[in-house]
Parts: sequence; structure tokens; C-alpha cells
Amino acid sequence: MKERVTAEAIFAENVFTLDKMRRRLPKEAYREVMQVISQGGELSPATADIVAKAMKDWAMEKGASHYSHWFQPLTGITAEKHDSFITHPDAEGRMLMEFSGKELIKGEPDASSFPSGGLRATFEARGYTAWDITSPAFIRETATGPILCIPTAFCSYTGEALDKKTPLLRSMEVLSQQALRILRLFGNKTASKVIPMVGAEQEYFLVDQKKALLREDLIFCGRTLFGAQPPKGQELEDHYFGIIRERIGAYMKELNEELWQLGVTAKTQHNEAAPAQHELAPIYETANIATDHNQIVMETMKRIAGRHGLRCLLHEKPFAGVNGSGKHNNWSLNTDTGINLLNPGDTPNENIQFLLILACILKAVDTHADLLRQSASSVGNDHRLGANEAPPAIISVFLGEQLEDVVRQLIETGMAATCTTGGVMKTGVSTLPDFEKDATDRNRTSPFAFTGNKFEFRMVGSSDSIGSPNTILNAIVAEAFCEAADRLEQAEDLDRAVHDLIKEYMSLHQRIIFNGNGYSREWVEEAKRRGLPNIASTVEAACALTTGKAVSLFEKFHIFTRAELESREEILYETYAKTIHIEALTMIDMASKQILPAAVGYSRTLAETVAALAGAGVEADVPRKMLSELMPCITRVQKALEILKEEVKEADAMEQGKEQAFCYRRKVVAAMEQLRKPADELEMLVDRKEWPFPTYADLIFEV
Ligand code: ADP
Ligand code: MG
Repeated sequence: MKERVTAEAIFAENVFTLDKMRRRLPKEAYREVMQVISQGGELSPATADIVAKAMKDWAMEKGASHYSHWFQPLTGITAEKHDSFITHPDAEGRMLMEFSGKELIKGEPDASSFPSGGLRATFEARGYTAWDITSPAFIRETATGPILCIPTAFCSYTGEALDKKTPLLRSMEVLSQQALRILRLFGNKTASKVIPMVGAEQEYFLVDQKKALLREDLIFCGRTLFGAQPPKGQELEDHYFGIIRERIGAYMKELNEELWQLGVTAKTQHNEAAPAQHELAPIYETANIATDHNQIVMETMKRIAGRHGLRCLLHEKPFAGVNGSGKHNNWSLNTDTGINLLNPGDTPNENIQFLLILACILKAVDTHADLLRQSASSVGNDHRLGANEAPPAIISVFLGEQLEDVVRQLIETGMAATCTTGGVMKTGVSTLPDFEKDATDRNRTSPFAFTGNKFEFRMVGSSDSIGSPNTILNAIVAEAFCEAADRLEQAEDLDRAVHDLIKEYMSLHQRIIFNGNGYSREWVEEAKRRGLPNIASTVEAACALTTGKAVSLFEKFHIFTRAELESREEILYETYAKTIHIEALTMIDMASKQILPAAVGYSRTLAETVAALAGAGVEADVPRKMLSELMPCITRVQKALEILKEEVKEADAMEQGKEQAFCYRRKVVAAMEQLRKPADELEMLVDRKEWPFPTYADLIFEV
């Protein structure tokens, strides 16, 4: 019989878990580690050495000879440099493998080649990685052998964040402090921390590796830049939740097993809406760990695909006209005592606290809709947000019928009876019903939907880190909590003050609530009337980082300095321009060297056929007609190609920065679309055998 692995047996096999630390560390050292994890601070040098040695011993038992400070620079993917445990041999030529506390805690990668938006240039070229003790070290099996990976934050010499993790950790602390102030008002004395919990559902495509390697666009850009629509798309809705094919199933099985070994709780798997599209969802966990784990999920997805002759596409829009991929970022707030603050609860007392928290979140999302939008923007995601696909680029909140009704009652009638019994606040809103989770009402078109006991931020792109969206969410909600607490802590009549504040926030920010169809034209109009921002693309979204309100929010809570924000905005422009530049060059390459030669070659075949038929004295109408359709199309491709070349040249000659990014967006992207149109038409005219690369049908239906 085939040996079966159980998840239970292999779970976290490759993770240096707390359990392993407890077993391997002296009691004192373990206690210190736990103290730092829960309360912050630093390990003493002596303890760091002890932990490092235990970690190295464990890693070596697993066959690792190298370690790596694993970090998340602003490229959006992870970076690593491997160092072996090897040390200088002694006089007799013996060598001991070593790993010190210092090496564990701090690294100094040569970081000058990572995007820094000018931050490092102004100070010093060095960057430092610092161990994030709250996220466990793990071993990754790579072709170079098992590597001990230590999750780290990446900062400049002067302490500026150069990564996605540092601000996330900062935002989590701030959120916790401010949320605790709210909880204390309601008499909670036991919670000592409030933790954002995140579950990120990951969508992806799998295509045949051999076919993918025949397409330059998939190789260089991760998405197709050409491709006529196949006769069948997803209209029959036969792929969503459909039976998983054997080859894909084998891939998913191996993926799950590797993820489990890495301590990632891969829980759900299914086919998605588009052919060749799938989804994986883990069980939610602390935001920074969820962020690390999502990076591991993405890396593992790509790595394992190769073993099955597949290629995993994480791009937001690998195929035009076919559903794109996103990442639903499920977010809630838990106390360290295990209470979910987004759970409406069964008792009025819980309800009122919940309503205050809800009011604060509505305020936060409305006030900083532009920031949230920005946090989900990327070059790839521009094809989803606000394009002909969901979710829309307009931020709104879906509450569900019941909650919306509660909000409406509150705003309209302000019905609330305050009564205090025995010093315990019983209720601020006694006329309100208790909530039932409305499980049936599942609005799929909302970018920010309340789903029972969490918010689901659906805008995030499939290839993006969830670091930024969660940093922004934590920060804006912390700000709203802070302002509410500032007021309520001063209140003489707390019940009344809470009630007034809920009513005020809900009235002021009700425009952000929308339960209708977010994909409809009418909503775009309606949102405009409501004054909600509709930010079209990544380049238009970037400046949200440096508005007055953004800078004051982030500086107040020490999440970003102005310099950090400016550098991030700068990087967004650079990345945008570079990405479009590569895409444009790829199109030029494919059109010049593949599409046009194939089409011209085929025109010769037709012309020769016409001549031969005429020579034989028979009717040549059909090939003549085919040729007469083909030639103008070839000309259109050629002309569009020339225009694209010109636009790229112009944009490329500009100085790097905002203006250049806008030039790529307005001119180059437009010229790319103009080239794609006739090229896709050409695909419909040319003999299939002559077409130079696999078609959409080849790619998404024959996996
Ligand atoms: P779907 O949205 O597809 O119906 P689920 O409701 O099962 O799926 O959850 C999707 C994701 O949300 C999963 O990753 C799950 O772990 C996560 N999730 C569930 N509850 C919470 C919560 N309270 N906070 C954060 N994430 C959660
Ligand atoms: Mg979902």
C-alpha cells in the first residue's frame, strides 16, 4: 500500500516552533524568548547565543549547512542571501560549524541594489536585517540544500524601513495600544494586547510549463500580452468548484504537504472561476506571520509547479478576457485572551462595544479610502481594479442587510436608552436587536465587506505582499480608535458619550456604506455624487502616501516618517515605469520577430496559392479573399508597432519619477493596447500551424 502522510504528522516539521525551543533551550532562555515575544524588547547577548546554537543544531540535524536572513524588500517579493555555518579552521585543520547570537539577530546584506527611493543614497548604502522574533525560523528545501531561513525586518543604517515588514510590525503595536484604550473604557482589564488576525485567500493560475516557455510574454512579464479569445471562456461557469484534474490534484497535494511542513495551515483548495485558475486559503493567524506565510505560499506555489511540468502564474491578469486573480485579505481584531472584537456578540453589552468599533472602522475607511486603494495598487492589479473587472477601484464598505439597518436606525432615530446598573454598563442602545451573522447575504462585488466577524478586503492583487494593505488597515483604524478614546476618556457620562460618538461617526461616514452591485455603471455615478474617490491606476494612487493627512497619521504613530513615505512613492513610480517598459519591449520583440514574420510568411503561402490556382486555370477567389483580409491587418500591426517603438523611446528618455510614470501610463500603455488589437485579429487570420506561440486555448484548456 502507498504510504500516506498525515498533516498532523508533518505539520511544522520544518519550523523552529516554540515547542522545539521549549524542548531545546534551558528554562531561563526560553522564558526570556517568551517575554520578548509577548512584550517586545531584545534578547540579552548571552541568550541570543544560546538560541542561535539551538537553532543551528536543529537546522543541521535537518541537513542544513546554510542560514539566511529572509526579508521582504520593496520589490514585493522576498530576498535572501545564504551564509554557511562554516568558520575558520583551527591550526590543525579542523572546522566547527557555528552560528552566533549576533548573526541570528542582525545581518548586513549588501543592500545597495534594492529599491530605496533615494533613502539610502542620502545616508549610507548599508542596510540591516533584524530578526523578527515573533515569526518563527524555518527550513526551506531548495536545490542548494536545506536553508535555515530567519524572518527579518530590513532597515537602513539610520533606521528607515526599507521593507514591508518593519512598518507592519510598527502598525500592529500602535493598533494594539489604541484598541486597548477602547477596551478599557468598556471595563476590560484582562486583555494585554489586541492582535490583527489575517487570512489571505490566494488565487493563481497553472499552465503547462513547456507551452509557457514558448511565450516571451509569460517568461518576461508573467502575463500574456497577445492572444485572441478562445471560442469557450468561463461563460458556462463549469470550472468554479469543478472537479480537480489529476495533474492539478497531484500538484495541490504536494503543495499542501510542503506548506504544512513549513507550518502554513493550507486549509481550502478549489478551482476558481476561470479555466486553469485555482485558489488556496490558509487558516487565519497573526498579521505579520500571515504576511510571511503568504510569501511562503507564493514561493512554494511557483517552486512546486516546475516539478509537475507546470508553471504557476501569480499575475493579477495573465489572460485578457478571463477572470483575474486577487487575494482576499480577511482581517479581524483579536485580544490575547481570545476575543474577536469584530464579533457582534449576543449580548447588548458586546453590541455597543462592537458598534463603536464598527463606527471607528467606517470612519477610518472613509477618511483614508485613498490610502487603502493605494495599498492594493500595483501594475498588474491595474488590470483588475476599475478595469472591466472586479472589484471596482472605488472603496466602499458592505455591511449586510441587518447591520446596515442597525446603522440606519441609529442615524435616523438615535434610539438609545442609557441605563447603568451596579457600575457595569449594560447597554447604550437597548432598542437594538442582537445580531445574527447573516450567512446568506454574500455580496461578492464589494471591495471591503463585513463577513460575519471579519472584514474581507478584496482588492489586493494576487502577486502582491499583504504587508502594505495590513499596515494601512492597522494604521487607519488605530487613528480612529485613538481619536475616539481621546474623547471618551474625558467624558463625564460615558454611556451618552459612546452613544453620541457612534451616531456622529456613522452619520458622518455613512457615504462609505454600499450594499449594492459594486460592478455596475450606476455605482460609479452614485459614488461620484457621494464624493468618494475613484482612483484609476497605480500611478494616480501613489500620491495618497504623501498627502497631509497621510503624513500626519503615519508620523503621529511612528509608522512611517515623511522621508520613508516619499521614498515609497518614488519607488512606485520607478517600478511602474520599469514594468511597463519591459512589457512594451516584449511586445515589440514578439511582434517584430514572431508575429509579423509568421503573418508575412503566411501571406506568401496564400499568394503562391493564388498564383498556382490561376496558373491551373481555376477559381482562386477564396485564397485571394483571405489574402486581401490579411494584408491590411499586417499593415495595421506594423504601423502600431512603429508607434509603440516611438512612445517607448520618448518615455524612456525622460527623467525617472512621477512624470515618467504618467507618460508610460498615458502613452505607452495606450500604444500597447493599439498594437494588441490588430495582432489578435491577425491570429484569427493566420494558419494555426504557422502561429508562432501557443494560443489561449492551448494554454488554459489543456493543462
Ligand atoms: P470564503 O470567504 O471563501 O467564504 P472563509 O469564510 O472560510 O472563506 O474564510 C476565508 C479566509 O478568512 C480564511 O483564510 C479564513 O481562515 C479567514 N478567516 C476566517 N475567520 C477569520 C477571522 N475572524 N479573522 C481573520 N480571518 C478569518
Ligand atoms: Mg473570500
